Amino acid sequence: MNRTVYVNGDYLPEEEAKVSIFDRAFLMGDGVYEVTSVLGGKLIDFDGHIARLQRSCNELDLTNPLDREGWLHIHRELVERNAIDEGLIYLQLTRGAPGDRDFAFPPASTPPTVVLFTQAKPGLADSAQAKTGIRVIAIDDLRWGRRDIKTTQLLYPSMGKMMAVKAGCDDAWMVEDGFVTEGTSNNAYIVKGNRIVTRQLSSDILHGITRAAVLRFAREAQMEVEERPFTIAEAQAADEAFITSASAFVTPVVEIDGTALGGGKPGPVAARLREIYLDEMRKAAI
Ligand code: PMP
Repeated sequence: MNRTVYVNGDYLPEEEAKVSIFDRAFLMGDGVYEVTSVLGGKLIDFDGHIARLQRSCNELDLTNPLDREGWLHIHRELVERNAIDEGLIYLQLTRGAPGDRDFAFPPASTPPTVVLFTQAKPGLADSAQAKTGIRVIAIDDLRWGRRDIKTTQLLYPSMGKMMAVKAGCDDAWMVEDGFVTEGTSNNAYIVKGNRIVTRQLSSDILHGITRAAVLRFAREAQMEVEERPFTIAEAQAADEAFITSASAFVTPVVEIDGTALGGGKPGPVAARLREIYLDEMRKAAI
């Protein structure tokens, strides 16, 4: 693949891109990231992702080396150099490679590691899963306690995804103290009548950028939104369920831990929200 990636100021063929073996993200998972989708060659909700990046940095005392314009320039350059029409841009920012391994943070003057790369996803907006819906299993949420920070520590979500695959399903919803937190890489919702229920923001879940937009559109469309925890049993008795993320947008869930919802077919609320989300976000894309 002749993809061009960005590493610490340079645009390079992916085979030539290198980071240090002493990088703190490699040694300790000491890094944060963002994923922004591209539709029609334009960035979806770029400002939301950059705002969350800044928040993740603040929470971890990590210096954000670039301002909005700096990040925007690199994103646009990669979209152009890789001719991305539909796809994703990953932004990885770590506390750098200070040399000797040490639990204490290195001096703030240590240069961070900045990596951005693209993943082309033709058909992203018109995905098969949007039409068929996905099937999820329930698993214990065994992640750390600061899930509101978008760190590169993705091992448990990755294990959860594999548990789902082994069970012949698509994803897992994580459960803590009897209540659903979120999906392995998405926020989780159920629908009963005209009411959408999703867990409220706290350090228990990632503050999804897609979540914020979808809830705004839902309220504008006169749907009721209730932000509170729900159980797997309540979800299994719901009319519909769905997930949101920057790469899945709004994707219906048709089975939860072996129980089919809506006769195993995607429901109208998820379909409508997906349509509104894609329409509005395409209009606002930059
Ligand atoms: N929760 C988790 C755990 C995630 O990894 C993601 C995707 N990064 C989300 C929620 C959805 O966030 P967003 O809408 O910003 O992609």
